[in-house]
Amino acid sequence: MPKTADIVWNNCLKIIKDIVEWQHYKTWFEPIRPVEIKGNILLIQVPSQFFYEYLEEHYVNLLAKTLKRELGKDARLEYRIMVDSGNNNNKPLTMDVPANNIKTYTNNEMDFPLVINNPVKNPFVIPGLKKMQIDPQLNPIYTFDSFIEGDCNRVARRAGKTVAEKPGANSFNPLVVYGGVGLGKTHLAQAIGNEVKRLHSNKVVLYVSSEKFINQFQDHSRNNAINDFIHFYQLIDVLIIDDVQFFNRAERSQDAFFAIFNHLHQSGKQLVLSSDKPPKDLDGLQERLLSRFRWGLSADLQMPDYDTRIEILDRKMKNDGLDMPKEVVKYVSYNINSNIRELEGALISLLAQSSLNKREIDLELAKKVLRNFVKTSSKEITIETIQKMVCEYFDVPYDKLLQKTRKREIVQARQISMYLAKAFTKNSLKTIGEHFGGRDHTTVIHSCQTVKDLMDTDSLFRENVMELQQKVQLAAM
Ligand code: ADP
Ligand code: MG
Repeated sequence: MPKTADIVWNNCLKIIKDIVEWQHYKTWFEPIRPVEIKGNILLIQVPSQFFYEYLEEHYVNLLAKTLKRELGKDARLEYRIMVDSGNNNNKPLTMDVPANNIKTYTNNEMDFPLVINNPVKNPFVIPGLKKMQIDPQLNPIYTFDSFIEGDCNRVARRAGKTVAEKPGANSFNPLVVYGGVGLGKTHLAQAIGNEVKRLHSNKVVLYVSSEKFINQFQDHSRNNAINDFIHFYQLIDVLIIDDVQFFNRAERSQDAFFAIFNHLHQSGKQLVLSSDKPPKDLDGLQERLLSRFRWGLSADLQMPDYDTRIEILDRKMKNDGLDMPKEVVKYVSYNINSNIRELEGALISLLAQSSLNKREIDLELAKKVLRNFVKTSSKEITIETIQKMVCEYFDVPYDKLLQKTRKREIVQARQISMYLAKAFTKNSLKTIGEHFGGRDHTTVIHSCQTVKDLMDTDSLFRENVMELQQKVQLAAM
């Protein structure tokens, strides 16, 4: 009759008791529960990951020897680790792992790196390499250097730098960066990975999107290899998971992620996560995961302001060896305020149009191209709105604009307002004149001509008008 797990384990314990100090025995062996015997494998349940690691480190030799007496020389040990004891809503979560060190110890190859003996099937292994290496899946173009800092991202960027300098040994664990589409989550997450590799080349870094993680998990699950999957991820020093919001569709992947998260966090490894919402708003993610996300730091990414957008475009052009008139850069930066991906998209379209039509990039072309990006004018802008914007811009009182004052700065503000009213509204010259204290249409024509002339000759004046033009355009969106 085959021996039961209880019998085998009790026989092992009899020997262990005699060898191990009583206090150690109570601490490390009494809590172990024999689960089952599968052929020559004894499965034992241990209360935690830490417990498992302690046994592997200190007692695996003893365990191996006693077990071989019971089950023969091919005896093997497997641990069932309680990852989470569960509650009313969640079943207890356990994970089975083989005793890795047994083979090493019996072969007297104690210095052998764990990785080589590891039976894990590595989903990212580079074929052809002798030693198991993990391709970090990083794109080298995403660096901190190319990630422009602004008010919009300062906290997230700096926390990311700290994490990259001291992975695992900082208070931002996990670091969660969140923000809308195209605001730089992937760029920042990858920059952290690249920086870790640059500063600590021996660290095992892995970037993976949650979708890829889920797909891999499902593949391994179909092949009954979930333990391999979990075990593989537990080898990582810096695990970066992008777009964790997609876990909401994958309950069992969340369990695996939870097990991995706990192991890595407990072993002082670094986790970096990105998400399209702050953790508290992530629907469909288990509360126990969300509560762990709150252990570290959550930092948001916002849409950069106008100046930062200019800087981003400038940097992008510099990296790609491109050039564009400053006014075009300003125009694009001013008008694209949805996200950075669109900002880059506008630049690419502009380049494409310019080379297709063999013409220089100028404001004219930019306007044409941006029409496809920017929502077409929905609001009808009024003469009053324009007047008020101009007054505010030049800091002149609104009522003076309508009076007969001939002071230079008032005259100029008045002329520019007329020019913009002509360009941006469908009002007749007569109507425009009426809005300026009852002037006639020839005054309006004269004003528009004066503005055009001055724009050709006075560069400061031109800049002012351009900037106002952009403001008006924006207001009309
Ligand atoms: P997300 O992952 O949030 O959707 P990405 O990281 O893919 O956004 O960013 C979209 C594009 O914008 C990328 O090409 C990225 O390089 C660029 N980008 C985002 N933030 C910055 C920044 N602060 N400086 C420079 N480029 C940025
Ligand atoms: Mg992304």
